Amino acid sequence: MFMVGLVAPLAIEFGASKVLIEGFSETSKIEPFSGQEKWMEYFNRVLRSLNVPIQVDWKNRGEMDVVKDLLINRPSWLSHVCNCFSAPCYRIPIRESWERNAPTFPLYDSQCGSCVKCRITNLGRLLHDPAMKRVQPEDISYFLKTTAKWIPDKWETHKDMLEGSFMREYVKALKKYHHEYLSAK
Ligand SMILES: [Zn+2]
Repeated sequence: MFMVGLVAPLAIEFGASKVLIEGFSETSKIEPFSGQEKWMEYFNRVLRSLNVPIQVDWKNRGEMDVVKDLLINRPSWLSHVCNCFSAPCYRIPIRESWERNAPTFPLYDSQCGSCVKCRITNLGRLLHDPAMKRVQPEDISYFLKTTAKWIPDKWETHKDMLEGSFMREYVKALKKYHHEYLSAK
């Protein structure tokens, strides 16, 4: 909803009557003002009551489905919307570690490769990006193994982003690349 609030004034300026965004159907039911339907509907009622000439519409997608949609329909956009969470001062040493340990695993210029946003994007790429066919098996293995260790470390603080869509796709990637299942919790 925060994103819609930011975009709405610009959309009105362009003459749009609707903002179409990703719906967050998997968000916790107790999380207020998320992208769940009940809050989108509430937001539309507020906009109408204030006579703001725009409404929000949404398509419910899991976090990983959005990466898949972009790779299928707008692959060149993904590098621009992958918002790495690492501070710029840490990004270079983290990238150097990826270059040392998984040299054929391709990172976008904007990526550190290790934060939650980069892992979500790279997991999606592993499953749906034809460019990943050129990655050496040992580098794919490095990504999957380091992610297996990283998940329990981050579960407490990143649970909302990891459970659901991310874990389902992670298990799919383990099966695709014939890794044994490594429990995340
Ligand atoms: Zn990152």
